[in-house]
Amino acid sequence: MPFLKNLFKKKSLSIHQRVAIPVLCYHGSQIGGTAYSQNDHAAMEEDLRYLLRAQYRLISPLALALRQENDTPLTGKLVCITFDDGTDFDYLDQEHQNAGFVKSFHTILSQSPLQNNVAGKSLPNAASSVGFVIASEAARQTIDQACLLGRNQLCDSWWRECAQQSIIGIGNHSWDHTHEALDIVHQADNIKGSFHAINTYPDANQQIRAAQDYLDTITGGCATPLFAYPYGHASDYLVNEYFPNYEKEHRQLAAFSTDGKPVTRDSNIWALPRYVCGQHWHSPEEFRKLFSDLGDRS
Ligand SMILES: [Zn+2]
Repeated sequence: MPFLKNLFKKKSLSIHQRVAIPVLCYHGSQIGGTAYSQNDHAAMEEDLRYLLRAQYRLISPLALALRQENDTPLTGKLVCITFDDGTDFDYLDQEHQNAGFVKSFHTILSQSPLQNNVAGKSLPNAASSVGFVIASEAARQTIDQACLLGRNQLCDSWWRECAQQSIIGIGNHSWDHTHEALDIVHQADNIKGSFHAINTYPDANQQIRAAQDYLDTITGGCATPLFAYPYGHASDYLVNEYFPNYEKEHRQLAAFSTDGKPVTRDSNIWALPRYVCGQHWHSPEEFRKLFSDLGDRS
């Protein structure tokens, strides 16, 4: 993606000094019922209504990573939306045993007026949001059996179509998430449940580069070159060595943690913080407070 790489190298273009951009993270599998606090789909639909009333604009995650819109520094009231783990509920409207008919994040976003004026959407391959998916099919099948309903709801059959519609880009959430449900994970000592344990070149290459290879294949080259750390764990090795020094291998433009603060011009591009629904806020009131706490910077 040479054009994007050239944009990325323009370090003078950046986020305006006073702008703080919240990056939100929702999980498609978080469906315990229909209430806001139980259901990330219901929460996002409500949150989007607030953002519209408060006159926020969505910013494409790719534009945030490139820190610019149309060759100008990012300014104004901006918010960025991401999804983790890549369950089918990101893209497909489906029945769920706890909540009845569930509208996918893709449908909810498509129907929101916020969709009509997304900052940075004109950049090549830019989408309104990004969904970070787990690459390994074997890992997804095991996680589906162990943690979901065993109904094959961690598929990659929709990735390509989704990536081409530019509402939700398909981003990289590692090879196997070092998920505890798996017998063997791609970590030299088979340490599960912690992405901090990915602290060597071979492990990083398998978890990030090999995952990107797979995403590129499945999406026909339309994957979004952004990474989200499983569990939000940004290891020192990945942030300070692997990502900055091996860009040709991993081909990412930015990486997201879950640090619970907004992105500013001082944020490390390899550890951009996010707020997680159900962790950093649990209600419409807490969501509004999160934004009011940003004060006049946003
Ligand atoms: Zn995850």
